[in-house]
Amino acid sequence: MEKAGETTARQLLNPSPADRLRTRLLRRGPGPAALAIPFRIPMRLLLALLWLCFCLGAQTGAPPPALHMPPGAEAGPGFDAETAAKAYLATWKPDQKARSDAYFEGGYWLQLWDLLIGAGISILLLATRLSAKFRDWSQRIASRQPLAAWLYWAQYSLAIFIVGLPWAVYEGFLRESQYGFMNQTFAAWFLDQCKSLAIDILLGGLAVVALFAIVRRLPRTWQFWCAGAAILITMIGALISPVFLAPMFNKYTPLEDAGIRDPILRIARENGIPATKVYEMDASRQSNRISANVSGLLGTERITLNDNLLRRCSPQAIMAVMGHEMGHYVLNHVYKMMAFLTILFVGYFSALRRSLDWSLAKWGARWQVRGVSDPAVLPLAALILAILGFLATPIQNTLTRTQEYEADIFGLNAARQPDGFAESALLLGEYRKMEPGALEEFIFFDHPSGRTRIYAAMRWKAENQCLGNAVNPCAR
Ligand SMILES: [Zn+2]
Repeated sequence: MEKAGETTARQLLNPSPADRLRTRLLRRGPGPAALAIPFRIPMRLLLALLWLCFCLGAQTGAPPPALHMPPGAEAGPGFDAETAAKAYLATWKPDQKARSDAYFEGGYWLQLWDLLIGAGISILLLATRLSAKFRDWSQRIASRQPLAAWLYWAQYSLAIFIVGLPWAVYEGFLRESQYGFMNQTFAAWFLDQCKSLAIDILLGGLAVVALFAIVRRLPRTWQFWCAGAAILITMIGALISPVFLAPMFNKYTPLEDAGIRDPILRIARENGIPATKVYEMDASRQSNRISANVSGLLGTERITLNDNLLRRCSPQAIMAVMGHEMGHYVLNHVYKMMAFLTILFVGYFSALRRSLDWSLAKWGARWQVRGVSDPAVLPLAALILAILGFLATPIQNTLTRTQEYEADIFGLNAARQPDGFAESALLLGEYRKMEPGALEEFIFFDHPSGRTRIYAAMRWKAENQCLGNAVNPCAR
C-alpha cells in the first residue's frame, strides 16, 4: 500500500528504508549522492511501487492484535459507508493527527530543501572547479575513458556524500528519531549509509560509464539512446534488488507461521501469482514502520512482509495489505510504469540535452567543463535532472497514486477484508496526513490519503454485505 517501506521513503518513500539504496532512491529530492544518478527519479517511482508500507510500531513476541472495529462501522441493515468511514477516522486522537500532519507537511518542505541543498552542492562543485579537478585527476590515472569516467564518479559520489552528510543526518536520522520512527543507533544507520554509498559507487558507476559511452559514440542522438539505457538500467535494478541488494541490509527468511502464510498463498493462487513462498524481513532493525511488498521482475518476484507488519496488524489487516500488493502484480503495474518511464525519460533526456548545451555555452569555459561527454559535466546534469524531477512531482505522484488506488480496489475484492484495510490505512496515517485537501493530495500524495482509502473500504463493505460477515466473509 505504501511506499517505501520501512522506509518509505518517506514517502514513497524515507524514513527508514530498510536499505540505504532504497532509502536514497525513494527519498524525495536529491540526497547527497543521489543527485547524480540519472535514473534515480524513475527508480524512486518504481521502487515506490515495489515497496509499500503499511503500519507502524511493533511489540516483539506479542500475539497478533485483534481487529478493532469502532462503533458505527459494524455491518448490518443500517450500515452507511460515510458514517462508518467517519467512525474510523474519529478513532484518532487530536494529538495523533497533529503529529502525523506535522511530520508529513514537514516533508513538503524537505522536498524543496533537498532540491536547494543538492543544487547548492552541484554549483559549488562546478564554480570551485572541483569537478574539473576530479576529472583531471581521473584522466591522469586512467588513460581509458570508461575507467576515467568511473574514477570521476567515485570521487564525485564521495564528495557529495561528505558535503551532504549533515543534511542527510538531519533528514534521515535525527528527524526520524524525533518522530519516533527510528529503531537504529546512529552507528548502525551510518553503516547502512556507507553500504549504500559503496553500491552507488560500484553499480551506479557502471550505469554512468555506459551513459557516457553512449554520449561519446552517438553525439547527435544520445538523448534517445540514453533514455533507453536508463530504462534498461532501471529494469536491471528492479530485477536484482530483491535478490542481491535488499539482503545486504536486512535478513529475509521464509515465513513459517502457517496461519498467516497459507491464506496469503491461497489468495496468490486465486489470482494467478506463481509464488510458493512468503518471506519475512527484519525491518524492525531500522524502523518501526510496517511494510509489505511484491517485488522483483522476470522471475525474481517474491512476497515479503516485514516483521513490524506481522506484529502490529491484525490478521485481517495483513490479508488486506497482501491483497493490495498482489493487485500491483496482477495489474502489471511494474510494466505499465516502465512504459510511462520510457516516455518520461525521453522527455527528461531531451530537456537535459537542451539545458546542457545552453548552460555549457554560457558557463562551460568558466567551470572548465569541456562538453557533454566530459565527466566533469555530471554535477550540472544532476542539477538539471533534479529540477526536472521536482517540477514533475505532481505528475509522478499522480501516476503512482492512481496505480495505488487500483491496487486498493483489487485488494478489497481479493482479500475481502474492508475493516482490515481500514485498520491498515489508519496505521499508515501515523506518517501520512490522513485528511489532506484535494489539491494537496494531487500534488504531494503518491498514495491515496487515509480518508480516501477508508471510504473506499467502507463503500465496498456497504455494497458487499451480501457476502456475509464483513470481518470474515465467505468463511474465509
Ligand atoms: Zn501499493
